[in-house]
Amino acid sequence: MLKLEHIKKDYLIAGKPFTALHDINLTFDRSEFVAILGPSGCGKTTLLNLIGGLDQYTSGDLIIENKSTKRFDDRDWDAYRNNKVGFIFQNYNLINHISIIENVELGMTLAGKSIEERRKKAEEVLIRVGLKDQMYKRSAQLSGGQKQRVAIARALANDPEIILADEPTGALDSQTSVQIMELIQEIAKEQLVIMVTHNQELADTYATRTIRLLDGNVVSDTKTTQSTKNDETVYTPKKTSMSYLQAIKLSFNNLRTKLARTLITAFAGSIGIIGVLLVLGVGNGFNKTVSDLERGALVSIPIMINQYSVTFGPPDFDAPAPVSNGYVKPYDSSIPPSAYLNNLSPAFISYLEQNLNPNDFTSIEYEYAVQTLLLQQNAGVYRLVDKESIQFAQTNKAFLNEYFDIMAGSLTVTDPNVYEIFILLNDEFGVDKRVLEAFNLPTDGSVAYTDLVGKTLVSPYYNDYYQADSTTLAGKTIFKPNTDLSNAFNNGMVLKISAVLAPKVENVFTIDDGVYHLDDFNNVLLQKALTSQVGIAQKNSNYYVMDFRAQGQSLRPAGTNFVAEAMERPLVESFIGVDQKPISISIYPVSYESKEGIIDVIEAYNKTVSETDKIIYLDLAETIGSALGSVVNMISIVLVIFAGISLVVSSIMIGIITYVSVIERTQEIGVLRALGARKKDVKRVFNSETFLIGLTAGILGSSITYILSFPINLIVENLNEQMAQILQLTWVHVLSMIAVSITLTFIAGLFPASLAAKKNPVEALRAND
Ligand code: ADP
Ligand code: MG
Repeated sequence: MLKLEHIKKDYLIAGKPFTALHDINLTFDRSEFVAILGPSGCGKTTLLNLIGGLDQYTSGDLIIENKSTKRFDDRDWDAYRNNKVGFIFQNYNLINHISIIENVELGMTLAGKSIEERRKKAEEVLIRVGLKDQMYKRSAQLSGGQKQRVAIARALANDPEIILADEPTGALDSQTSVQIMELIQEIAKEQLVIMVTHNQELADTYATRTIRLLDGNVVSDTKTTQSTKNDETVYTPKKTSMSYLQAIKLSFNNLRTKLARTLITAFAGSIGIIGVLLVLGVGNGFNKTVSDLERGALVSIPIMINQYSVTFGPPDFDAPAPVSNGYVKPYDSSIPPSAYLNNLSPAFISYLEQNLNPNDFTSIEYEYAVQTLLLQQNAGVYRLVDKESIQFAQTNKAFLNEYFDIMAGSLTVTDPNVYEIFILLNDEFGVDKRVLEAFNLPTDGSVAYTDLVGKTLVSPYYNDYYQADSTTLAGKTIFKPNTDLSNAFNNGMVLKISAVLAPKVENVFTIDDGVYHLDDFNNVLLQKALTSQVGIAQKNSNYYVMDFRAQGQSLRPAGTNFVAEAMERPLVESFIGVDQKPISISIYPVSYESKEGIIDVIEAYNKTVSETDKIIYLDLAETIGSALGSVVNMISIVLVIFAGISLVVSSIMIGIITYVSVIERTQEIGVLRALGARKKDVKRVFNSETFLIGLTAGILGSSITYILSFPINLIVENLNEQMAQILQLTWVHVLSMIAVSITLTFIAGLFPASLAAKKNPVEALRAND
């Protein structure tokens, strides 16, 4: 069934060809027990390896079941080794990190047989070689004779027709040798066994045929007649393949048996990952800390758009940035700056509301000059509460939520009949005593937060509060407050305290304590003013229809004619509320970047309107923001450089580790190839090993970084309170770094893995000799 025709084998030694086998012509039949005898170095192993397809002949032909192997490619040879031949080596060549039975199964696994089939067959052959009770042990736990029995079982597992044994008893004592030889003799009843030995006695006792080799030539053969019976069949190789899952299992077992080593390896690989995660975490924490600082700083420094904007000289919107011309520019500081009147028209306000990005600002506040009447009542006596004395300004719930703690009440009151107001305490939980007085509460410190919740003030409508009077001044209607205010009080807008709030400790800004309302109140106030009798009368008169005092002006008694119509009318109309323009708009940006976004929106507006309608804004936060911004940028660059270095170091480390692992497992590569593993399969085994190491390194690195983050944060917090939580890991960081770890390890292992795949199986097996 095997025929060697003029087989010649040359090795290249230091560039010169060395002929290990000369012209070998041999024929082998089924159920022969052939012993190949000869002194060391005569070419026995070389011949056996050629017959087994572990190595390829230089010239001649090896004919397997009437099929020439001249045109065999790698895969044909792999298939031939896998299912036609079984190898038994002098040094057993078992894989240490898997169990006995798994060693026996390996060849069948490569042949693609099912788990049940593999198990059943492996148990069968192990029982046949007398290892019924040792199946689940590891090879290190067996004696030499037992190891060789495992090797025999492995050789038999795939039902090969040819068993090749290279000095199978060379490492065994004589008693064990006899047992092994008897086992092999038993096998030779059904299969062709070709055994290499230099022991004449063994050959004489057991073999049916002895071939003597000397210096690469056959010098004698006890079988002189050539086989006459010719096989009818023509050999076709059955291809093998190992699945990825199988490769991962093999690597996993290897890694598991060397757990400590694997962990150390993964730890070495994880150092880079730890480095990068630390950098990412610090970057993240630092950014958050800075943006908190920014928020804190910017929340108290809004972009201001005032009705009257102070400019030096007439505003020049398209003026380029000043450029030095080498000469000092003289100016006169004794000329006072002029005021520019910003046209805060409804068109501009609706433009702002439609175009500002809601994520860019925490709050936008409009201040109106309209007078706000606040009424309180005590035992039937009505009195006006001075708006200035209780602060009475506008706020919004988003702002309160973000920067204040609720001490009593809630921010989710929905009573449509009242207007919500809030008491903001200062950072010492105090409030101006006039606020308490406004609500008829004692000022001796006995008012609890909850006592304030539910207390009310009333803002009367003009029509209820004022009374027209056309008798006092002939021909002029003027307005005076009603003597009886009960109607004004009972009909008015009810302002009800829904919560008492105190600033959060971490706030870096302060806001005045007092009473705050929402924009709904102002909207109704302005709308009612527009249609009120006093409002309509003022619009149609060129005199003050009521006593007027505003913005530091001296008292103008009702009925006084406007002296300077162009100046006085707008003031009076905005005081009464018939001029609905705000006197100032404050936009509180979220961060430095979002401040830029807000300014862009305003400047885009300026491009579309006429020269007189352009808006001048005040940007006081610019200096703080730009300084912070450049620090953040510098630190980010430094962090990125660190991360890059860590990654490079980590990949180099993993590459070296995989390379070392390849060198260590050379023998295993040889065994796999001898059992019919393709180059691809070997590559898969090593790639799955790097995959597993990468995964472990990634998980290990993330866990270590997470654990490290606690002491690091504590230490940094002790150094600087504002830098609490400087290291903040996110799931995105962790998952992406595990992916990076796997990818890098995999890439770093690709070269060593393909190196392993390219290893010549013969040399790989010799590595242990
Ligand atoms: P044996 O098994 O009979 O002791 P071998 O078949 O191992 O002998 O070796 C036969 C000859 O071929 C020896 O001289 C050996 O040095 C040489 N040889 C074997 N393998 C190689 C190789 N891969 N490269 C070069 N020379 C080799
Ligand atoms: Mg040898």
